[in-house]
Amino acid sequence: MAKPKPILPASKHPKDFVIATIGSHSALQILKGARDEGMRNLVICKKGTERPYKAYGVADEIITIPDYKDWNSALEEELIKRNAIVIPHGSFIAYMGHDRVRTMQAMYYGTKEILEWESNRDMERQWLERANILLPRVFAKPEDIDKPVIVKFHGAGGGFGYFVAKSPEQFYEVKNKKYPDENDFVIQEYIVGVPIYIHYFYSPLTKELEIMSMDKRYESNADSIGRIKAEDQLAANIHTSYTIVGNIPIVIRESLLPELFEMGDRVVKVSKQLCGKGLFGPFCLEAIVTRKLQIFVFEISARIVAGTNPFIEGSPYTALKYDVPMSTGRRIARDIKQAIEAGRLEEILG
Ligand code: AMP
Ligand code: AMP
Repeated sequence: MAKPKPILPASKHPKDFVIATIGSHSALQILKGARDEGMRNLVICKKGTERPYKAYGVADEIITIPDYKDWNSALEEELIKRNAIVIPHGSFIAYMGHDRVRTMQAMYYGTKEILEWESNRDMERQWLERANILLPRVFAKPEDIDKPVIVKFHGAGGGFGYFVAKSPEQFYEVKNKKYPDENDFVIQEYIVGVPIYIHYFYSPLTKELEIMSMDKRYESNADSIGRIKAEDQLAANIHTSYTIVGNIPIVIRESLLPELFEMGDRVVKVSKQLCGKGLFGPFCLEAIVTRKLQIFVFEISARIVAGTNPFIEGSPYTALKYDVPMSTGRRIARDIKQAIEAGRLEEILG
């Protein structure tokens, strides 16, 4: 089904619109951000998940549905009736799937086409290569493995089921034992360094690229395995996993900032050659920085990431630029508000 064109309300009053999202991931931040910019908000919750949105008092309206698969045209009618603008986040994409997002009738903040470039590993690589970003080497087949690699299964939710191997034999040993039926995977060079997730924002209105904040992830069991001696890990047959549990704020060595800005510029520039309006709004480069200060990017997220959650009150970087606490959620709301007031809403909808 082709992508529908939403009917845009003519109003130039932000109060005639509602910022909407699904209740998980970074919804608290998105809802508060809307409030802080003087806009109304709405959260769609699966039954049983409403409590945080009530407890923290951030939601103007909660719509409960039995399950995310019950997202249907009746719900969209409700959204359209309220002039709701939907903000996608990680859980939103995971629960809705790309097809449903593409055919959604309600107003949507961001470029829908970019999601395909983000989620297809080959297309993602093509995009980042064209933007001259340093990427981990990819091994075409297990027989080529001649150094430590990380094996990632497609669609692995939050790093669960990744494994590390250093030879073809080791690859097959783990693969055949634990994932005999999984054949959709990528074998990537394992980059030794520290992970850092850089949160950007690019506004199509101001044409400015901002670095909002940075985080590292708190992953189970990768972040606790070092508490056990290596020989005990082997004895207990413990394998590393990367299940995301939370996020930890980071500031980066200041001399690396110029390079991070340039990387973001190039990614945005190339995205405009890939599809329609290109990439705008929040996005994240997921990187490993080596001891030689090389910055390898292993993934891009073309939307808000949950690593922005520690910065609901702003980050050290946004404190430099803004005179109010500016979270990524609030920055999104401000982009929407400014677009409505300037009669430029069409430019920020996908
Ligand atoms: P959830 O709504 O918590 O079940 O998460 C759905 C998906 O969103 C997960 O599979 C993760 O990939 C992603 N996600 C959720 N929370 C986070 C987080 N704090 N950091 C990074 N990714 C997350
Ligand atoms: P992801 O689910 O892609 O965000 O990655 C989950 C975890 O795997 C993160 O902790 C990353 O630091 C780690 N990781 C992913 N790719 C690589 C790589 N090529 N080298 C080293 N670590 C990686």
